Amino acid sequence: MAGPAARGDLGGARDGGLDNRWTGLADASGPVVTGLVGIGDAVTYTNPTMGQGVALALRAAQWVARQAGTAGDEPASFAADYHRWTEQALRPWFDIQVAMDRANEAQLRNPARASAQPPTAVAREKAALSACTWDDPVMMRARARIRHLVLPADQAYGTEEVRARLACWLADHPDFTPGFDGPAREEWESAVRRTETATVPGRAPSR
Ligand SMILES: Cc1cc2nc3c(=O)[nH]c(=O)nc-3n(C[C@H](O)[C@H](O)[C@H](O)COP(=O)(O)OP(=O)(O)OC[C@H]3O[C@@H](n4cnc5c(N)ncnc54)[C@H](O)[C@@H]3O)c2cc1C
Repeated sequence: MAGPAARGDLGGARDGGLDNRWTGLADASGPVVTGLVGIGDAVTYTNPTMGQGVALALRAAQWVARQAGTAGDEPASFAADYHRWTEQALRPWFDIQVAMDRANEAQLRNPARASAQPPTAVAREKAALSACTWDDPVMMRARARIRHLVLPADQAYGTEEVRARLACWLADHPDFTPGFDGPAREEWESAVRRTETATVPGRAPSR
């Protein structure tokens, strides 16, 4: 058994103060370890903001349950197949979480600056994908398919119907611009620190 810390595909990201961790027990040279199968957070630890963790764990459990019969005969090829499957079936959802957290971090770090810049057409369309779901059930269904891991965003939003609905909504809302509310990160943290020191009874204010 090789040491998984020395090899393997270990991806971590801390975006917007949120952890996401990918633990692949194989790399370009093949499996790092056999006889050990990670599922759930052991492979795809995603922070809870998108509520993906349980679905990702169940999908992995399903794959392992279906293929477990062959694991004992060919442990190395079982481990390699599992790794390939996780890359293809789970990694895209992990990467979406990381991208979403990075975007949120950029926005929350300084919302005032983000609002001051005129939005590009692409940014406006992207923001409208979310805003229009409150008016259009077709768009809400597309979004729900993504949130519930039925389809990746490019497929759910890529249909002719969805693109036409989005164009219609943008035409009906010519003044729509992506809106950011709330304080900047530093402002929020200093406000929370003040409250914490003021409200914890019997504890000396922390510095
Ligand atoms: C605050 C919060 C909110 C979340 N909200 C959502 C949500 O809305 N939707 C969603 O899909 N996901 C959500 N998640 C993520 C979800 O909980 C996890 O992705 C999921 O529980 C992963 O399942 P798991 O079996 O891999 O790990 P876990 O559920 O963590 O199970 C691991 C188990 O192993 C046990 N254990 C650890 N070490 C040992 C040991 N040495 N010996 C024996 N037992 C051990 C632990 O006690 C634990 O019971 C949330 C997570 C958090 C923290």
